[in-house]
Amino acid sequence: MAPRQLGDETSPSLRGDRCTLLVPLGATEQHGPHLPLDTDTRIAVAVAEGVAARIDDTIIAPPIAIGASGEHQGFAGTLSVGTRVLTDMLVEIVRTAGPELARIVVLNGHGGNAYALRAAVDVCAAEGRSLEVWSIRLPGADAHAGRTETSLLLHLAPEAVAIDRAVAGNTDPLDELLPKIMDGGVREVSDNGVLGDPTGASAAEGARLFAALVDDAVAQISAR
Ligand SMILES: [Zn+2]
Repeated sequence: MAPRQLGDETSPSLRGDRCTLLVPLGATEQHGPHLPLDTDTRIAVAVAEGVAARIDDTIIAPPIAIGASGEHQGFAGTLSVGTRVLTDMLVEIVRTAGPELARIVVLNGHGGNAYALRAAVDVCAAEGRSLEVWSIRLPGADAHAGRTETSLLLHLAPEAVAIDRAVAGNTDPLDELLPKIMDGGVREVSDNGVLGDPTGASAAEGARLFAALVDDAVAQISAR
């Protein structure tokens, strides 16, 4: 059965419901020469659909497709609303949701949104409301537009991947790169915008990684 989408509902059709609202949160930012700008959004939407297929009474919100991506500024196509606006947006979504959307869970596909998510969770908690967050995490994953994300996209949207243009970027560990990225953005450490190495990415690996993401999200959401 296709997952329920909030945008397809009418207001009366939700009356009396007590749903879990899944909010896919992505980004519109450069992903090297071979992956689309909406890579993180596609992953977040796909995880939401995977979760909705396995947990009852879920409904998927329209995705938030522009996040906090200031670190990718200077690469063509990148858009960002920044941490403060994203924080406010998440808080307002929680404030305005009625009892029919009893639980709100953000499914986050972009690491740079983490600061806004933490801040929004804190504001909501202080107001006596709950905002739950699941964020993409895979053991051993490379940071950005590398083997991990390329495999995921080869599984989810192969037509959107220009695999013949996939080349390695900066493969140093992310914790070594982070201070430089905080300072001068991804530009500072990678000419092609890739952090990692997409060489060897495959749809089969992407299918395994994606299943692990959905399992992780389902486990977290079911645990509460
Ligand atoms: Zn990404």
